[in-house]
Amino acid sequence: MNIENLLSLPTPCYVIDEEALIRNLEVLQYVEQQTGCHVLLAQKAFSAYHVYPLIAKYISGTTASGLFEAQLAYEEMPDRQIHVYSPAYKDADFEKLLTMCDHIVFNSFSQWKHFRKIAQQYPDVQFGLRINPEYSEIGTDIYNPCFTNSRLGITPANFEGNELDGISGLHFHTMCEQGAETLERTLKVVEEKFGSYLHRMKWLNLGGGHHITKPGYNVDLLISCIRHIRKTYGVEVYIEPGEAVALNAGYLVASVLDTLRNNMDIAITDTSAACHMPDVLEMPYRPYIVGSEMPSVLPYTYRLGAPTCLAGDIIGDYSFEKPLQKGDKLVFTDMAIYSMVKNNTFNGMPLPSVYLLQSDGSLKLLKQFGYADFKSRL
Ligand SMILES: *Cc1c(COP(=O)(O)O)cnc(C)c1O
Repeated sequence: MNIENLLSLPTPCYVIDEEALIRNLEVLQYVEQQTGCHVLLAQKAFSAYHVYPLIAKYISGTTASGLFEAQLAYEEMPDRQIHVYSPAYKDADFEKLLTMCDHIVFNSFSQWKHFRKIAQQYPDVQFGLRINPEYSEIGTDIYNPCFTNSRLGITPANFEGNELDGISGLHFHTMCEQGAETLERTLKVVEEKFGSYLHRMKWLNLGGGHHITKPGYNVDLLISCIRHIRKTYGVEVYIEPGEAVALNAGYLVASVLDTLRNNMDIAITDTSAACHMPDVLEMPYRPYIVGSEMPSVLPYTYRLGAPTCLAGDIIGDYSFEKPLQKGDKLVFTDMAIYSMVKNNTFNGMPLPSVYLLQSDGSLKLLKQFGYADFKSRL
């Protein structure tokens, strides 16, 4: 990766790396080609619709978490499949979703029964149910849809097998940044608990959380899992990765505004964990900065913080080869996913502009924000 030309950009800004995005899409396309499955972009992770035409060349479509994401797909990737799943639909939203989506997944039998009548008027839309196999290997509760008393998905005990008239598919989502080995073990449980219903279905959606484009991911095992499901039950298979589509396909470029000391060296940047990369605090995790190391590995260690009033708005501790100075640029990697879709203007922080680093090396400004964007939300 050549980051030289990113250093001249006004900060803060996100940069989507088109070439890296294409590399990911090629892997996902390969999975489709090898298995006949359909890969859907989970827009929750990445909704930079300027690159939807590019994404549409490689994979089958998108999935949405509700009306707005569905509408975005309807407008920006209209010639591909549009799926939607929400823990509960509002009546007014549902009627609109029926005109935009080809697959609608319900979270409960009560939602299905509530909407069944109007659903029947749309023979071109397929309806499914999200199941909860009560099996997940996610250690962090906030990301575990199978934790105790979860609201996400129908457990075997609550599954009403006699209410499936009009239902053509099942959906589960129980993974997060995991390998095909986890999928294989999960599928075993899904088959044990829901296999008898699967024989009556036309499709199974394996949800997201598949780290398919991460180096070392076992793509061959994913392919064999999908082939197994297709063959055993005669169903179409969908997977809806978010992360994997744009993994390592973007940067956040920031500048150092000041340095100071309080027992250790501290640098204030023009970016904020809370506003521009909320997952750093929520997940939490430590983003990588180009040229940096863990604290004390290189000669100069700094705690990087935001220009906000939140004491905990700290990105992390990093060491560098040279002392940081006002105006120095910091390039955070893997900032395409769960960044732009989650950012906010807390503390009056400006939103980073968005650039596309095109395959030919040139930079294209996609979005720029200002005071009006802050004011209009309040
Ligand atoms: C979050 C989510 C996804 C995408 O998950 P990733 O971890 O980004 O791959 C897919 N489906 C559902 C239902 C989700 O909630």
